[in-house]
Amino acid sequence: MNHLDIAIAGCGPAGLAAALLLRRDGHRVTLFERFATPRPVGSGLMIQPTGLAVLRSLGLADEILAQGARIDRLLGIAAPSGRAVLDVRYAALPGGERFGIGLHRAALFGTLHAAALREGIPIETGRTVTASEPAAAGGRALVFSDGRRAGPFSLVVDALGSSTPLARPCGRTLPFGALWASLDAAGGGSFDGAALEQRYVRASVMAGVLPIGRPATFAGPQVAFFWSLRVDRAAAWREAGLDAWKSEVRKLWPETTPLLDQIRTEDRLTFARYSHRTIREPAAPALIHLGDAWRSASPQLGQGANMALLDAYGLAKALREEPDIPTALTRAVALRRRHVAVYQAMSALFTPVYQSDSQVLPLLRDRVAGPLSKVWPAPALLAAMVSGLIGRPLRPLGLAMDEDRHAPAENEAA
Ligand SMILES: Cc1cc2nc3c(=O)[nH]c(=O)nc-3n(C[C@H](O)[C@H](O)[C@H](O)COP(=O)(O)OP(=O)(O)OC[C@H]3O[C@@H](n4cnc5c(N)ncnc54)[C@H](O)[C@@H]3O)c2cc1C
Repeated sequence: MNHLDIAIAGCGPAGLAAALLLRRDGHRVTLFERFATPRPVGSGLMIQPTGLAVLRSLGLADEILAQGARIDRLLGIAAPSGRAVLDVRYAALPGGERFGIGLHRAALFGTLHAAALREGIPIETGRTVTASEPAAAGGRALVFSDGRRAGPFSLVVDALGSSTPLARPCGRTLPFGALWASLDAAGGGSFDGAALEQRYVRASVMAGVLPIGRPATFAGPQVAFFWSLRVDRAAAWREAGLDAWKSEVRKLWPETTPLLDQIRTEDRLTFARYSHRTIREPAAPALIHLGDAWRSASPQLGQGANMALLDAYGLAKALREEPDIPTALTRAVALRRRHVAVYQAMSALFTPVYQSDSQVLPLLRDRVAGPLSKVWPAPALLAAMVSGLIGRPLRPLGLAMDEDRHAPAENEAA
């Protein structure tokens, strides 16, 4: 199966990583993207040791490390008590030096996209995918919004994100979204450059500052600032105006003043909505769903882009090692299913603890879970959770966190 004709729908992390991996394995790959100029949406994200292992295998880790900010700690403080109710340190993980990377989405996108262009992968832009159709003679075709078609291809990879039209809608939209902005770190006040810092008022208010390094196209280092907001209160937020909001943020977290001063108009902020959904059967004849098209969740655990990279790696490995496409798709899903299930369950459990109107959950978080999180073995477990390592995702893929080590290639997830 060295020279399959593969269509990849979507130019996000999943699509671009899959394109690079599959092209390097000798397949004929074409990317399809709706934007006329492919571009990243949103502000910052975190690359975990899991995602970094995939980027390292692609030879792109150094570029990412150069543009990102090393994150050693996640620190959440509850107001008004000022108590640290979340304090996770990557150093609590056993083994070598461990850390996360705060990254501007433009840096992840730019690095993968530039690599795809360097390697001559065709990218058809301005192509909005609306459907896929199995072909009578085998394979699958893509259908676009202007009525045109492409294919049939031996395989269609759906990397269209959480609103993919190639799968039946499932799951639910979450009640809370968040406002995000990328801001200059230089004029940004006194934040720990190696920590994701958060402030909470119960679970209904959450603010955060994440250092996201210096993307190649920016003059200086950036931070991502975020503020959680109920979707049904977004209109009221807009009506109340920026000044009212800024004074609320300043009251909770006075140190954000130099960041807020950079937000002069509403369009500096992007409002992101989240959904929680998992496709139960992510493979069909000549079709597989990867990344957010397979599963999506709130960004509370910071895993989405990492999951997308791991899914892409799993597909490439399965196509390399299995004798035919149906067996390879079954294997690709098996390589990732356990990890996906574990993190979807944890995300469903933890999101309301940080983003909901519940009175009880934040009380338990602050009074019970917070203190317990400092007691052995919780620090190492929490560090493994934010690193994306619960469910051992790397072993079945034959990946390891350290450059000089490779895990056995056997499929332990099956
Ligand atoms: C605010 C926010 C913060 C986040 N923080 C983190 C974090 O800290 N860590 C982390 O790992 N993840 C985080 N995530 C999640 C992460 O961004 C996603 O999980 C990741 O981008 C998924 O990658 P993907 O390639 O599967 O999909 P996407 O990134 O959604 O890419 C889909 C691509 O398909 C294109 N497309 C969509 N529909 C069509 C169509 N019909 N036709 C053609 N093209 C189409 C889109 O334009 C896009 O290029 C966050 C998400 C949000 C919204």
